[in-house]
Amino acid sequence: MIGELPGVTVRRTSAFRSTAPVGGPPQPDYLNAVAEIETDLPPRAFLDKLQEIEKTLGRECNERWGPRTIDLDIILLGDLKIDEPALAIPHPLMHQREFVLEPLCELAPDIRHPILQRTAAELLAALKNLG
Ligand code: ADP
Ligand code: MG
Repeated sequence: MIGELPGVTVRRTSAFRSTAPVGGPPQPDYLNAVAEIETDLPPRAFLDKLQEIEKTLGRECNERWGPRTIDLDIILLGDLKIDEPALAIPHPLMHQREFVLEPLCELAPDIRHPILQRTAAELLAALKNLG
């Protein structure tokens, strides 16, 4: 669906990884993946489109199969830095989440976090050392 948006091209997609939920009520595992996307859309317009997709999928699944959710987040956008409540880039929790960094490293281990100035591979290694 993301690839069908005008002005948006999905270049590559990581494998989907199943990860156990941390905390919360008993619930099924999550599936996580990262995609490399090229777009002419301004960041907020792109987020609006992602949120429309979330709505469409959420609604469909709730009606037919019970509760399902999808979460589409923008992780990095080149070297761009945005710090607003409605849109923070880099995603403020990306460097603390193995389920983001693992698939990100599969696609782009050398991509650099523009604020922390560390590559995805470095952030993943740092996170694993903490655990
Ligand atoms: P989660 O934090 O688990 O992704 P939601 O998907 O419900 O929770 O996101 C809530 C809000 O986070 C969205 O309405 C959106 O405006 C905001 N937001 C801030 N930064 C980002 C980002 N980088 N990507 C996606 N949503 C973001
Ligand atoms: Mg989200």
